[in-house]
Amino acid sequence: MLPSLLNLDEVQLTAWLSERGQLAYRAAQIREWIFSRRASSFAEMTNLPKPLREDLAAEFCVLSGTITSHQQADDGTEKLLLRLTDGQTVECVLLRQTKLRRTICISTQVGCGMGCVFCASGLDGVVRNLTAAEIVEQMLQLQRLLPAEERLSHIVVMGMGEPLANVDQLLIALRTAGDEKGLGISARRITISTVGLPQALHRLARENAPYHLAVSLHAPDDELRTQLVPVNKNTGLSAILESADAYFAATGRRLTFEYVLLGGINDAPQQARALANLLRGREALINLIPYNPVAGLPYKTPSRRAVDEFTDILERAEIRVKVRRRKGDRIDAACGQLRRKVESGVSKP
Ligand code: SAH
Repeated sequence: MLPSLLNLDEVQLTAWLSERGQLAYRAAQIREWIFSRRASSFAEMTNLPKPLREDLAAEFCVLSGTITSHQQADDGTEKLLLRLTDGQTVECVLLRQTKLRRTICISTQVGCGMGCVFCASGLDGVVRNLTAAEIVEQMLQLQRLLPAEERLSHIVVMGMGEPLANVDQLLIALRTAGDEKGLGISARRITISTVGLPQALHRLARENAPYHLAVSLHAPDDELRTQLVPVNKNTGLSAILESADAYFAATGRRLTFEYVLLGGINDAPQQARALANLLRGREALINLIPYNPVAGLPYKTPSRRAVDEFTDILERAEIRVKVRRRKGDRIDAACGQLRRKVESGVSKP
């Protein structure tokens, strides 16, 4: 398989073109074909001279991943498993929400090194970071599932991997997503979900791009958080909250805190009260995510009553709460599940 042309940035593509006696405007034409006209091959790029199309096709492909699994749920959610050129696989998802809202969920790593005990993506550790091109490729593969008149509107970086452990490549990819000549999805419509790595959060605050940040808390105190999110022993809640506050101060973007509810573990009323205390005074939204079962793991989805009571306690403390509706759970949409199933033959309970 040839490498994807997405590996070349604008400067490199222009240089490649000029070596072949082509002017720089060809780069813009090629980009338009790939990002706006959704071309999958150079042969389709009919306003380029034929020899140039042939030169391009001899060295590159447009998209280098192959779709090895494509699942569709009744609610319009579609999930792809992409095989990359080195044989590794990553998952990405298209969510059809309201009439115009077309959100994609993308991965940043093969596997994950954070070790959250309830998450399918990290069960086998991290294999490698994705390149910016591989991150952009997921966007384009998902875009091509839409009819021509529909556009991608939002991105959530909530697939496999810890985005801030691969922040350099992620930021390059998101700049392409935001570029008017790329996908034109502005930073305000992009959410980065992170386990909370303080140094990378401070760096993001300095980036000057107002991405929406979602920080995965999952516990109101360090003792429980370190059990559920082992990387917490190196960071600790107070450093995470401090860096999240710095992000809010720098960008003005209201923070979201994610909290996966695990039945009998972190869903008790006193834990809701402790969480309310921890977040008091912040312009924050809490996203409660009922645990989505992962084959082979012992955790339980919380009862309806526990979710309602947890929500009530937070709301009474004047904290905004949203309970995440499940989408596409019948197609293994919880990150990492499809890859595990395909790679290891594990199936859902
Ligand atoms: N590494 C990032 C992205 C993870 S996926 C992060 O930690 O935020 C997005 C969210 O889904 C995270 O809050 C993650 O903890 C949560 N999640 C992972 N596995 C889950 C499961 N089985 N059920 C419900 N939520 C899960």
